[in-house]
Amino acid sequence: MYEYEIIRDDQASLEPLLGKTMAVIGYGNQGQAQALNMRDSGLTVIIGNPRDSYLERAVKDDFEVLTVAEAAARGDVIFLLVPDEAQKALFQEAIEPNLQPGNALVFAHGYNLHYELIVAPPGVDVVMVAPRMIGVKVRELFEKGSGASSYCAVHQDASGQARQIMLAIAKAIGSTRVGSIVGSVALETEIDLFMEQATWAAMVQVLKLTFEVLVEAGFPPEIVCHETWGSREAAEIFAEVARIGLFGQMGLHSQTSQYGQMSRGEVVIPEEVRDLFRARLKEIQTGQFAREWEMERLLGYPVFRKLRARALAHPINDAERKMWEMEE
Ligand code: NDP
Repeated sequence: MYEYEIIRDDQASLEPLLGKTMAVIGYGNQGQAQALNMRDSGLTVIIGNPRDSYLERAVKDDFEVLTVAEAAARGDVIFLLVPDEAQKALFQEAIEPNLQPGNALVFAHGYNLHYELIVAPPGVDVVMVAPRMIGVKVRELFEKGSGASSYCAVHQDASGQARQIMLAIAKAIGSTRVGSIVGSVALETEIDLFMEQATWAAMVQVLKLTFEVLVEAGFPPEIVCHETWGSREAAEIFAEVARIGLFGQMGLHSQTSQYGQMSRGEVVIPEEVRDLFRARLKEIQTGQFAREWEMERLLGYPVFRKLRARALAHPINDAERKMWEMEE
């Protein structure tokens, strides 16, 4: 059983972070949002940037920007906010040699911790605060006085203070304002990967099939794209699902539509798919997927490149260009 509790703003204090330096490594989606939110919450924040494409942005936002090694050495709490695939090498090269006992390491996704790709030295706290929101929204919601929910977990408690540090970070980025989900790294990582590899994988495949079957039957490709996602009706439906529920929103559709959806759902996604979904979960839980993906990384992403090239060559891409021209 994957246990969790919800922690709200009045249950967390910034106190464990006061007088300490937050070193945010990476100034991309999450890096910028979290650094700005923490500074507005009254914390001391510096930036460590690995290359230079985001450096200007951090300087413009009035942060002190150092190399990753310098920032890791200066920081008490070090946030690894570069892409997950880049974290291991950066950690080994520039962060680990500069860690001191008593430091805390912070991750925004549990993948590298869960699959032990990054193992921190024993004297260091390791926590996860993983927003369930894209970076720009983490910032936007904070500025509006709200926040983005996040999964939080203590992965390694060296100081005995790791939970307090984790909650203080969740508060500083605005997450406890809407309730932080405190559970385990396994909960966050496995549910996230399952959504990507089963739910979204199936959705993309369903949309692709929709396109192929309708185009084959003579419907204009750009109109199929418009109907399927381009009109943004699908995006609006998802917003309503979040607001009033998966089945609650059904009342917003005609009865013909409701009948069609309910009577045909189990025909187009037959019961056997349940076992295919279970198999994806197993690959995630046993680490089989992580091993495959690590091998891909070591070989220079050959399969990934092929799959991406195939997707970019699909006729959907031309149809979309036509659809956007049509909308101009
Ligand atoms: P980004 O892709 O936005 O990170 C960009 C930053 O990483 C830049 O500072 C860039 O440096 C640096 N960087 C990019 N590629 C490399 C590389 N190969 N080696 C070293 N540094 C590199 O990352 P995200 O903010 O999307 O993700 C950060 C963490 O947040 C991840 O753990 C992710 O899973 C998690 N997360 C992300 C969400 C999102 O909104 N995307 C949502 C929730 C969690 P430079 O300026 O030198 O190019």
